[in-house]
Amino acid sequence: MTDRIADIWGQRTPHARGTVWPARVDEHLEAGLTGADVDRWVQSACVLCSNGCGCDIAVKDGRMVGVRGRATDVVNHGRLGPKGLYGSTPWASSPDRLTRPLIRENGRLVETDWPTAMGRIVARSQQLLAEKGPLSHGFYTTGQMFIEEYYTLGVLGKAGLGTPHMDGNTRLCTATSAAAFKESFGADGQPGSYTDIEHCDAIFLYGHNMAETQTVLWMRILDRTRGEDPPAIVCVDPRRTPVAEEAERTGGVHLAPRVGTNLALMNGLTRELLSNGWYDETWVQEHTIGLAELRAVVEPYTLTAVAEICGVDADELARAARLFGTSENVLSTVLQGFYQSHQATAASVAVHNLHLLRGMIGRPGAGILQMNGQPTAQNNRECGADGDLPGFRNWDNPAHVQELADLWNVDVATIPHWAPPTNAMQIFGYAEDGTIGLLWISATNPAVSMPESARIRKILGGDQCFVIVQDLFLTETAQYADVVLPAAGWGEKTGSFTNVNRTVHLSEKAVDAPGEARTDLEIFLMYADAMDFRDKDGAPLIRWRTPDAAFDAWREATRGRPVDYTGLSYEKLRGPTGIPWPVNEQAPEGTDRLYTDPIFPTSTEQCETYGHDLLTGASVTEQEHRAMAPAGRAFLKGCAYTPAHELPSEAYPLLFTTGRTVYQFHTRTKTARSRSLREAAPDAWVELNPTDAERHGISEGDVVRVESPRGAIEVKARVGQVMPGAVFAPFHYGSWDLADVTPASQSRQANELTMTVWDPVSKQPYFKTAACRVTKIADGTGPSPAPTTAASAPVRGHLPPTQGGSPTSSRLVDTPRYPNDPSQDTAGPAPTETIAGRL
Ligand code: SF4
Repeated sequence: MTDRIADIWGQRTPHARGTVWPARVDEHLEAGLTGADVDRWVQSACVLCSNGCGCDIAVKDGRMVGVRGRATDVVNHGRLGPKGLYGSTPWASSPDRLTRPLIRENGRLVETDWPTAMGRIVARSQQLLAEKGPLSHGFYTTGQMFIEEYYTLGVLGKAGLGTPHMDGNTRLCTATSAAAFKESFGADGQPGSYTDIEHCDAIFLYGHNMAETQTVLWMRILDRTRGEDPPAIVCVDPRRTPVAEEAERTGGVHLAPRVGTNLALMNGLTRELLSNGWYDETWVQEHTIGLAELRAVVEPYTLTAVAEICGVDADELARAARLFGTSENVLSTVLQGFYQSHQATAASVAVHNLHLLRGMIGRPGAGILQMNGQPTAQNNRECGADGDLPGFRNWDNPAHVQELADLWNVDVATIPHWAPPTNAMQIFGYAEDGTIGLLWISATNPAVSMPESARIRKILGGDQCFVIVQDLFLTETAQYADVVLPAAGWGEKTGSFTNVNRTVHLSEKAVDAPGEARTDLEIFLMYADAMDFRDKDGAPLIRWRTPDAAFDAWREATRGRPVDYTGLSYEKLRGPTGIPWPVNEQAPEGTDRLYTDPIFPTSTEQCETYGHDLLTGASVTEQEHRAMAPAGRAFLKGCAYTPAHELPSEAYPLLFTTGRTVYQFHTRTKTARSRSLREAAPDAWVELNPTDAERHGISEGDVVRVESPRGAIEVKARVGQVMPGAVFAPFHYGSWDLADVTPASQSRQANELTMTVWDPVSKQPYFKTAACRVTKIADGTGPSPAPTTAASAPVRGHLPPTQGGSPTSSRLVDTPRYPNDPSQDTAGPAPTETIAGRL
């Protein structure tokens, strides 16, 4: 039995390049239980990060009591990480679950019944529609609901109400991924596959501490780097993360650019490829447009210039460029270090440029994984609940809008398409000034997760906007609501979702939701019924009543689009593994990687956007796009580096950056209700470099005040491995679990310090570039609560190790055959035995 708090990635199963990743089944059950005690196992997939690991839920006496990885699933080959093992089920039977609706009476939230709560919502909704029209309504959703729920909300919002004000917290974590795909390839959609890990000879991780954010994917990489013919690792990160350590160990490179300078670094790498001739001229000629413009943009970014801007070693930068330029197959992964930092979309597009220059796309090992943060973020992007039109359709293309009008049988004018969809930052701006008079927040916690917390609290708490919150718990956000709706969670409802590499899983209902909690689908249908939304023939607009019928409706919305689900069904998803889209007649078993042809959905008729200027965000018009005649070729797009909005100053000499720990997910709504995870990372902290700590007279565990022009936090300090001049804080910690909630309770919330500033293309707010100052306010009484594992490990001295996870089991099992796995396709006959029946 293993403590997976201490042993985050578990036992290694090393293997050689080009061979299949061996299966290993990880399992955790509540204390005192064994497999023999489990009444039944129910098929699902983990929803505690974007990796989407296939798992089964253990049910005993009507309760979820544990999880087990599915060895037959292409995503995880049976493995689960600490969050999945320890965090998947304890929240469900937490005594503080919401079980009845709440309404605000005389300033207090009081329990009520569903008709009263929904009646209050509908009355306000109808009043606002009559007085101000549909633009008075805003929806702010999540990366944690299911396809069926997003699509239903998308239809009722766009064709029922007709509001463009719909977005999700996906704006905070993965909007740049989608935006970068659209700019380079014409449409959203992950080009690469996890199987690229088995075939690459170098892996570049840009702003992606995968070791903590997607632990199972990192296990997959570790099993390559510990096997024969390992890939070199290149890490771009201002902290010395486990990824950086692996880069050092594999003879790769760790580049720690100054916070806010990613694009300059990317421009330097691009220039090196071009000036050394490390690009495939014929391929670029045939499959891309924009080389001459890109060459001109990156020309000033010599090694010396970039070293100066980014504070990196010029020789190390050159070594990284050589690795990219001379490797046969490179896999690139990108996450928040790029998405939440200055010039996010331009830096992420630059990753695509490197691959396109070398023609490294669409073949095993040569992949791009623009990662997601949340488990179902991909579906919010696909289904139209985030503002984009469903099925990767272009709001600016009348033919695409007409397709939806025909599908939904509504007048095309109902569907908002006169301007770009409203992004989350604008939605909160409109709620601030009362333009949006009804804001419906589902399964997310903006009071903790959005930038500039004091402003968000004021918006949520003001009289100018009626706030509805639909969630599992009385979160920091729900405490400001006018109506709170109790929702069912994972395992308490059936639905499907898609992970970061397009793999769709079905998650079956395992247990009943507590009390009067309803599924998000039921809640949206209840509202649609009460509002009596109709199509143009007078029939109900939303004709489905069940998750499988909603899924069937969604499948039809994808017909003919890049995100093609038409070959999928619940029945098919009840098989041994998740299935990556597109799934259709041409690819009935799904598609491991995109762009094998390589033809990109960039034609003016097909694309999801006509594109943008990466520096200003200005839109490319249809005429301009047509004039470029992309015709299936990808775009090479460059952009000059500009300094970040807020630079260090005399008053605020350091740079503040936020991030994550391996033991918590988002605002800890689920993970902090697991004892093992809560005790591993119980409270907030900040990390300082030893030099900066010494300069400020700060030692491990001292209480410090960190201030920006917008707010302050007071937490304990970890003298750690962040680069000089930077201060790191985890963003997970709000106030719901504090006994005494006062304004001072917010003193541990990292977003007190962050800015209301966003990327001009993806509209993703910047969480990683703010100026700050640090002052010691008290001597410590012991070490900071930061884990001693992974990137928050102390730089020196011996501290009590982070450990104490309840026991888990881990078994090596026969490796089954995985559909579409190129390792098995190329390695001769694959094992035909499936182990599903034996588990
Ligand atoms: S890697 Fe992500 S999806 Fe997989 S078990 Fe961990 S938290 Fe869950």
